[in-house]
Amino acid sequence: MTVSAPPYELVIGIETHVELNTESKMFCGCRARWFGAPPNTLVCPVCLGLPGALPVPNRRAIELAITAGLALHCQTPDHTKFDRKNYMYPDLPKGYQISQYDLPLTVNGWLKLEGGKRVGIRRAHLEEDTGTLKHGEGAGQRYTLVDFNRSGVPLLEIVSDPDMSSAGEAERYVRTLRDILVYSGVSEMRLEQGAGRFDVNVSIRFEEGGKTIWPPQSEIKNLNSYEALRGAVAYESDRLWREWQSGGEIRTRTGKVTVGWSPERGRTYMQRSKEEVEDYRYFPEPDLVALRPKATRVAELRAALPEMPTERRARFVEKLGLSEKDARNLVADRQLADYFEAAVGVEPTSAKAVANWVIGELTAALKRDGGDAKGARVAPEQLGVLVRLIAAGRVSPTAAKQVFGEMWKRGGDPEAIVNTLGLAQTSDEDAIAAAVDEVLKANPSALADYRKGKERALDGLIGPVMSRMKGRADGAVIRRIILERVG
Ligand code: ZN
Ligand code: MN
Repeated sequence: MTVSAPPYELVIGIETHVELNTESKMFCGCRARWFGAPPNTLVCPVCLGLPGALPVPNRRAIELAITAGLALHCQTPDHTKFDRKNYMYPDLPKGYQISQYDLPLTVNGWLKLEGGKRVGIRRAHLEEDTGTLKHGEGAGQRYTLVDFNRSGVPLLEIVSDPDMSSAGEAERYVRTLRDILVYSGVSEMRLEQGAGRFDVNVSIRFEEGGKTIWPPQSEIKNLNSYEALRGAVAYESDRLWREWQSGGEIRTRTGKVTVGWSPERGRTYMQRSKEEVEDYRYFPEPDLVALRPKATRVAELRAALPEMPTERRARFVEKLGLSEKDARNLVADRQLADYFEAAVGVEPTSAKAVANWVIGELTAALKRDGGDAKGARVAPEQLGVLVRLIAAGRVSPTAAKQVFGEMWKRGGDPEAIVNTLGLAQTSDEDAIAAAVDEVLKANPSALADYRKGKERALDGLIGPVMSRMKGRADGAVIRRIILERVG
C-alpha cells in the first residue's frame, strides 16, 4: 500500500451483475432462490438447455429491470430485444447465454455519490445467470462438479461510465448502487451469496516525455466483496504502472486483458489476453419476440418507486433535525427507517427522541430476539405514544424503558402499562426531597468534593435518587432539589 498519491491517474468503470428479486427464473418456472438448495434440484429442460425446450420471459424480471433503470434516472427505450451471446463453458448448458446486445432495456442514467459526484450509467440489460462449478479432488483424481440450480436466474448487468478515479470512489459507487437496488426492491444483492458481482475495468493515465500515455486497460472479473474491490483495484493499477515502467509487453499490446483476483494471495492473475465482442457472435434470439414496454406500465413503475436512500438521509437531517450519523443508521435499513417514520407520524415534534429509541432500544431488542423492524413486537405507533408520554413529562425516560420492555414482552397500550405498573412520573417533590436526603447522607464524599469546587461531583447522585424513586421522578427536578439542598 502506498501512502503518497500514485504517479498516475486512475480511470475506473464497473459492470455490476445483480440477481433480481423474483420467485422464478428468467425463462422457466423453476425457483430462482437457489442459494443453499441441494445441487441440481431446481432445474427443468429449459434451464438445463435440453433440445427443443423453449424460453418464456419472466414479466416480473423485466419490470424489475425497468424499475432499476428508473431508480438510476435511465430512459426506457420503447423497443428492446433479447440476443444470443455464444460461448462454450461447462456452466452454460445451452452453449449460449440469452442476453441483450444492442437494444438494452434501459439506458443513459446516473447516480450521485455522497459528496455530490455523479457517475454515469450507460445501460442496464437483462440476461440469465450460469450454473456453478465446484472443483475438488478425491481418489487420486481431480474433478469438477456442476450445479445448474443457478442456471437461468434473472440477472441484470449495469454498466457504468468510466467516471471513477480511485478505489475509494469505486467502492462508494457500488455501495450507493447496492443501496438503490435494495431500496427499490430490485435485488437483495446478498454479496456473500454471489448475488452481486463486479467486473471492474481499470486503466491508468500519465504524462511521459510531454505525451499523455494511456496503456490498455485490465478487466478484473467477478469481484464479490468491497474488500476484494479495494484490493484488486489497488493491486492491478500498480501492476499496470510497474509493467509499463519495466518495458513489459503492455507497451506494444493494443487490446485489454482479463484478470481474476485471488484474495488469498492478494494479487491478480491472467485469465484471457484477448476477447473481442465478435467472439460472441451475437444475434437476435430467435425463440423470443421483440419487446415493447408499455408507456403506461413504465409510468406506474415510476410512480411506485420509493424515495431513494440519499434523498431520504438528507430529508431526515434537514426536515427532521437528525444528526448525519442517526440518519445514516436508520436509512441503512429500509424497514427501520419506515418504522421510524411511522412512529414520528404519531409524535412529530420529537423526531430526535424517536430516532434514539429506534436506534437504541428497538434495535437492541431486535438483535436479541431476532426478526426485523417490520414485524417488531412493539408497533411504531406504540413507540410514538410512549415518546409522547416522555415529552409530556408523564413518564421518565428510565421508567419508559420498563414500559417498552413490557410492551415487547406482553404487548399493550403504553398509557395503560404506565398506570398498571405505577410508573407515572411523580410530582411529589417531598418524596423526591426525602430520597435526595438519603442519598446525600450515604455519599458524604460527593458533597465534600462539590464544596471544594468540583461542579460535576453531584452528577453521580441523580442515578441513585432515581432508583430510590423507582424511575418515577423527573431528572431535572432531582437535580434542582440536590442543588437546593447543598446550596
Ligand atoms: Zn428451469
Ligand atoms: Mn453479463
